[in-house]
Amino acid sequence: MFESLSDRFSGVIGDLGKRGTLTEADVAEAMREVRLAMLDADVALPVVKDFVNKVKERSVGHEVLESISPGQAVAKIVNDALIDALGGAGAVPLNLNAVPPVPILMVGLQGSGKTTTSGKIALRLATRERKKVLLASLDTQRPAAQLQLQQLAERAGVTSLPIIPGQTPVEIAKRAMETGRSQGYDVVILDTAGRLSIDEALMEEVRQIRDVTSPAETLLVVDAMTGQDAVNTAKHFNEAIGVSGVVMTRMDGDARGGAALSMRAITGAPIKLTGSGEKLDALEEFHPERVAGRILG
Ligand code: GDP
Repeated sequence: MFESLSDRFSGVIGDLGKRGTLTEADVAEAMREVRLAMLDADVALPVVKDFVNKVKERSVGHEVLESISPGQAVAKIVNDALIDALGGAGAVPLNLNAVPPVPILMVGLQGSGKTTTSGKIALRLATRERKKVLLASLDTQRPAAQLQLQQLAERAGVTSLPIIPGQTPVEIAKRAMETGRSQGYDVVILDTAGRLSIDEALMEEVRQIRDVTSPAETLLVVDAMTGQDAVNTAKHFNEAIGVSGVVMTRMDGDARGGAALSMRAITGAPIKLTGSGEKLDALEEFHPERVAGRILG
């Protein structure tokens, strides 16, 4: 992830950082290369434009260009602009501030890694925060989906809601919350069905589930490898049902990074967690400043 972008950024910005003097033209030249690198990494055009303009504006002042090490001052400005694009300093934690059982609604397209991520979050909350977690699959579309979640729950060492064939997603959601209440669960993770593409039937189903469960978090799972499609998917989901956070999976692949850099500006939703593998412990918090550091090398 980010390899090509990082190579090109660290090249340009590293060069600036080493120079003793800088002119506006030098900055403009460097920003031309940065712009191309971002476009090649599949960053959304408005985000690229905003980024480059911001860096130029902040760099042209006398304090920067006539400072003792102007190259380093510009490198710092680029670093800060990257952090902004990635969502601002600091990881955004999961919001579990609600009366237990706290519902977490998992949404996303089929194949995005939603079910795996549900298991990962369950494991994390159960082990790190000692929460009593109930996993429930509301996916009545794919026959094997509920069994898949049951197996994941076993691997994560948490309970899954018993399967009752023939129930609708809304019925399962209500039963999950009732079970959560009557059996003293802290968190109920609701894994909804995905579709191959966004359609109104999917959104309506998710809306109904949302309305009967009032989730503290509605987490959208997207695949980093799908680039701008991931961002467009997030935009649609957010407009249709409201998304409180994004989980970006397949950060272990060779995705170019555009999705991570465009997500916040285009959708408004913060990336809260990332997936970096198939194993259940391959889930990390998203720290914009660390990612910016990786990109700048
Ligand atoms: P769903 O259809 O959205 O529920 O997707 P699944 O959870 O079934 O995941 C689809 C495939 O992606 C499975 O083979 C997962 O093991 C894999 N997967 C999920 N998250 C990641 C990740 O972060 N990295 C990698 N490499 N694979 C992942």
